Amino acid sequence: MSLAELVALEQRHAVPTYVRSPVQFVRGEGVYLYDDAGNQYLDFLAGISVLNVGHCHQIVVAAVQAQVAALTHVSNLYYTEPAMRLSRALAESSLGGKVFLCNSGAEANEAAIKLARRHRPGGGIVVLRDAFHGRTYGALSATPQEAKQAPFAPLVPGFVACEKDPDALTAAVGPGTAAVLLEPIQGEGGVLPLAPELLGAAREACDREGAVLIFDEVQTGMGRTGTLWAYEQTGVVPDALTSAKALGGGLPIGALITGERLADTLRPGDHGSTFAGGPVACAAALVALELCSDPALLAHVRSAGERLMAALGELPFIISVRGRGLLVGAELAPGLSAPGLAARALLQERLVINATGPSSLRLEPPLIVTEAQVDEAVRRLARVA
Ligand SMILES: *Cc1c(COP(=O)(O)O)cnc(C)c1O
Repeated sequence: MSLAELVALEQRHAVPTYVRSPVQFVRGEGVYLYDDAGNQYLDFLAGISVLNVGHCHQIVVAAVQAQVAALTHVSNLYYTEPAMRLSRALAESSLGGKVFLCNSGAEANEAAIKLARRHRPGGGIVVLRDAFHGRTYGALSATPQEAKQAPFAPLVPGFVACEKDPDALTAAVGPGTAAVLLEPIQGEGGVLPLAPELLGAAREACDREGAVLIFDEVQTGMGRTGTLWAYEQTGVVPDALTSAKALGGGLPIGALITGERLADTLRPGDHGSTFAGGPVACAAALVALELCSDPALLAHVRSAGERLMAALGELPFIISVRGRGLLVGAELAPGLSAPGLAARALLQERLVINATGPSSLRLEPPLIVTEAQVDEAVRRLARVA
């Protein structure tokens, strides 16, 4: 079908929740996407940090093909090997406790919120300004953004939005607090790394009050920041973390990973999902997790990220650059529109990037991006400013 036909179908049949760019992609390979006319695009968004291993990675494709032909679904009433192997791999890769598998980032945070409430019944959940934790009611209630929340009030009670200040956070956590939930680097908020002092204050406050500290690593995890999990670089270990986005190598899957202390907090019957831990998504995730754990790849993420940030910092129309590894945000000079620039990059230069706000760009290429591709992306960006 032509793009015009797709737009017509969208207008007639798709609930209009998305603002799509006028491009139809039909194929992906590594760091490249191809549209219906065969044009090649440099993908510096990776499906919003989903294709960390690159599009259609051969090993992921092979694992999915083998599993889909053997067994696609049985539900959690029975055992399947991929789910149990993935649970072990995720726990051993991080906090050492137990894993609840689900289907998305929002669902992973829903599980985390239920974990927190089981830990301290009726307890409050402290979240931070500019946070994004997803669109379902619990996750939305944890996302203190007026435009996203207001139309859907009343929200789930018990969420407290706190300024990103160590003293404010220390004051916000009390004996009635069940959890502090935060992103170590706020992704949708505009790639805003949280200060080490803030993370330290969150850890201390939770320890003092017996609350649990939960890191939402849906976007920062799976190698994106140059370590498998971003918390490894913060000096703070959370009590639980959530993953999704890149976890499935392109397939939809999410996970809540606990530390040992919370491993058995959720009990039989407390939570569940029909598709959760399905064999195909888990087979893909097992491979993606192994690929993203490779120390050589992680070292490459750190150096490629530094190269990208340095090159962006040299551009005259960029006033500041922030992020870690290949999760990079850039603030544009006054007068420039980030959505406009992203649109021109896509249509004129075939560079896929994203605007997180009126003046902020976000770049998060597949982790396998080469230095030459980094340089090429920056050259293309420079031409559309
Ligand atoms: C994308 C994202 C989510 C939501 O994930 P979905 O899979 O879209 O539900 C939650 N938290 C963070 C930090 C994210 O980046």
